[in-house]
Amino acid sequence: MPDVPHRADTGVHAREIDVAYGRDVVVRSASVSLRAGSVTALIGPNGSGKSTLLRALARLHPPVAGSVTFADGADLRALSGKDIAKRITLLSQQRSAPGGVSVRELVEFGRHPHRSRWGGRDPEGPAAVARALELTGLAALADRPVQALSGGQAQRVWLASCLAQDTALLLLDEPTTFLDLRYQVEILDVVRDLADRHGVGVGVVLHDLDQAAAVADRVLLLEAGRVTADGSPADVLTAENLTRAYGIRVDVALDPADGRIHTRAVGRFNDTALV
Ligand code: ADP
Repeated sequence: MPDVPHRADTGVHAREIDVAYGRDVVVRSASVSLRAGSVTALIGPNGSGKSTLLRALARLHPPVAGSVTFADGADLRALSGKDIAKRITLLSQQRSAPGGVSVRELVEFGRHPHRSRWGGRDPEGPAAVARALELTGLAALADRPVQALSGGQAQRVWLASCLAQDTALLLLDEPTTFLDLRYQVEILDVVRDLADRHGVGVGVVLHDLDQAAAVADRVLLLEAGRVTADGSPADVLTAENLTRAYGIRVDVALDPADGRIHTRAVGRFNDTALV
């Protein structure tokens, strides 16, 4: 990750993109900008297009309309796969490590765009791998087989592999799923540090709306493939937006002590007011 915070030239901008599976357009006219040093949370119900939008930004699923350009003017469609992998990395939900691979080996795999096709030199590789292991708290587990780790530890190894890739843009699809509370908070701390200290631009899908409010500079709300709100957490995480988007009453309160946003979906078991 870059050492100079808030580099001006590393963002990515998607403008009015459509993304389709076959003839089925599932993301429509979506615009999103990820900026250096900023965390953008993508929220919305299941199936609203969050994963598909992230995949489109990494060209794993190319848009069928609209444009995706980097801040230096490069067009996503015109770049080689290797060039893209040097700019942007995606931690997706589906992951499985090949048998017998150690933590370090999986993290080293993240260096692939920096090596030549024949496995050539990568002078910055060892330092990047060491830093990724450190940031994710995995240095002591580096020689363990990934398959011998808990689900939460393995999740951190995949994140470390993305960090070793050393891109200025990082996309995370539900990185806290399956993690216990401590590691959820630690992963989000890492995300915040990457933005604040290393100038990384982060796009992260989160289901926990309070976590989204706490970690993100901007929040993007998706509903049925469309971006229906985009702005500061306070602007987007309103009772009206969330109740409409999720189809259930959602109360929102501001903690008077620290100004934090708290949300709660209201069911029969918890129908007292949120204060
Ligand atoms: P989210 O991440 O918000 O849960 P997704 O991006 O996974 O939403 O899905 C958006 C829409 O695209 C959904 O209607 C989903 O059923 C559909 N979809 C996702 N993956 C595929 C696929 N591989 N083939 C066809 N449709 C898909």
